[in-house]
Order: sequence, then C-alpha cells, then structure tokens
Amino acid sequence: MSIEKSIDLHMHSICSDGALSPCALVQKAAKEGITIMSLTDHDTVSGLEEAKNEADKLGIKLISGIEISAISSSGTLHILGYFIDPHNPALTEKLKKFRAARNSRNQVIIERLNGLGINITMEDVFEVAKGETVGRPHIARVLIEKKVVSNLQEAFDLYLSNNSKAYVDKEIFQPEEVIKMIHEAGGLAFIAHPASLKLSEENIKKFLLELKEMGLDGIEVYTPAHNRKIMRLFRDFSKESGLKISGGSDFHGVKNKNDRLGVCHEGIKIQNQWLSESFQV
Ligand code: AMP
Ligand code: ZN
Ligand code: FE
Ligand code: FE
Repeated sequence: MSIEKSIDLHMHSICSDGALSPCALVQKAAKEGITIMSLTDHDTVSGLEEAKNEADKLGIKLISGIEISAISSSGTLHILGYFIDPHNPALTEKLKKFRAARNSRNQVIIERLNGLGINITMEDVFEVAKGETVGRPHIARVLIEKKVVSNLQEAFDLYLSNNSKAYVDKEIFQPEEVIKMIHEAGGLAFIAHPASLKLSEENIKKFLLELKEMGLDGIEVYTPAHNRKIMRLFRDFSKESGLKISGGSDFHGVKNKNDRLGVCHEGIKIQNQWLSESFQV
C-alpha cells in the first residue's frame, strides 16, 4: 500500500510545547508520507538544526519555521515565519527577550495558583518543559500530574485561559513588529489559524487587509482549526487579496483527539498543490 503524500507546515517539538524531539518528529513525518514540512515551535528556533539534519538524511524538505504570538486590538494572534534564517541576530535577540517575558509571566501564574491554594512551583514546571519555550501547556501538565484537574481542557477552562482565575497576558509584540522580525530574518509571515481570533467574517477580512498593509505574506488556510466552510472562505479570500496560502496540522504529539500530522479538518490530508508555489520543491 503506498502512502498518500502530504505537506505539513505547522508542528511543535519538545523545544516548545510538543511531545516529540525534533528528530523523532521528522522520522514520524517521513513514515506518514510527508514530503515537505516545517517545524514551527513557539518563540524558539532551537529545534531547527536537529530537524534539518534528520530531514536531509530522510530526503524530506524542511522549511525553517517559527510561531510567534502578537497582541493587537483584535486580540492575540499567532504569526508563522517560514524560510527564516535561524541565526539572524535581530531575531534571536528579540526571541530571547520574549522568552524572558514568558518566564516572568509564568512566575506570576504560579503565584496566582498558589494564592488559590494550589501547591505548584516553577521547578515543577521546568521538570515537564524540556525546551527553551515554557508556557501554559506545561503548567497545565503539572496541574494534571498533581491531580488538581483531570485533563488539559479543564486546566485551561478553570485556571489558564483568557478570563480564567490565573490568566496573565504575555504578548509583548504588535503584529507589525513580528512581521518585521520575520522579514528581517529573510522569512515570509503567515497568520496562523485566523479563525481563532473569533471575529465576524467582515471583521476578520478587514483585519487581514490591515495585516497585509503591514507586510503579511499569507494565510494559514488549511488547519484543523477551520472547518470546510472556513477553509473555503479563507482560500477564496487569499486569492482575491493576493495573499499566499499555507497549511499545517499544528501537531503537538499530545494524546488528544485530532492530533495527527499532515492533516487539517476531519483528517483531510493537506495536498502540496493547495499551497502557494513558495513551498513547492
Ligand atoms: P502560551 O504560549 O503559554 O500562552 O500557551 C499557548 C498554548 O496553549 C497554545 O498554543 C495552545 O497549545 C495552548 N492553549 C491555549 N488555550 C488553550 C485552551 N483553551 N485549551 C487547550 N490548550 C490551549
Ligand atoms: Zn503549542
Ligand atoms: Fe497557534
Ligand atoms: Fe501552533
């Protein structure tokens, strides 16, 4: 049986909040028929070298990637950077600053949880976080281990999500700055899973055009965060507005429902030809 080929431009390793090492992630992608992939860890490029070495061995094309959060008047958004130079000094410097801000924020979250009578320390969190970027998913894992909550969703719903008891903001960059940092590192900037902003159709289109003015290159159209109708909407809008198209699974390797490589909504395999030419070999 031959495996259907696919492309996956959004996934996470242990360098941020994924479960697999960069090497294991590339091996898994190869097994699943992925020919072009991008590792897009949150706020770090530390897994790219390991991933690239393994991808070269296995004949997979690896695109250097990253996912950076930004704050705007429309809410928090995630911006994907593709084809970035991981050694770009301005980029690495800014990411360092961002991760430092995350650490201060993690500390405040821990203090708030302590204030709610929950016994948790930063050491507990560092024990589950294996990489450079430490955040709420790691805190959630500790809360599960300590049986404060029974699963990830409950950890977010009760304590960690926006409007929950221990929520603290972390974003320090405006979208404009993130797009600029990606461009300066030689990359292309794509908005990740835009439906997560939960704006009306009219408002998201308006916002995407504003981002385009700031230099945004494209939209992540194919993602498990979009249903068929939304994928169609963003595909058509990308074409109309001259924005490029990307897609990826947002795989974290955490055992939950639809966490599979190379697929978007309802297990649909992401086909190379759906995405912009910039990604084709
Ligand atoms: P952080 O970067 O520390 O703010 O954590 C953000 C990450 O937490 C996201 O990329 C998701 O993987 C995860 N996350 C955010 N909100 C939720 C939620 N409501 N339920 C489960 N996971 C979430
Ligand atoms: Zn994540
Ligand atoms: Fe994201
Ligand atoms: Fe992601």
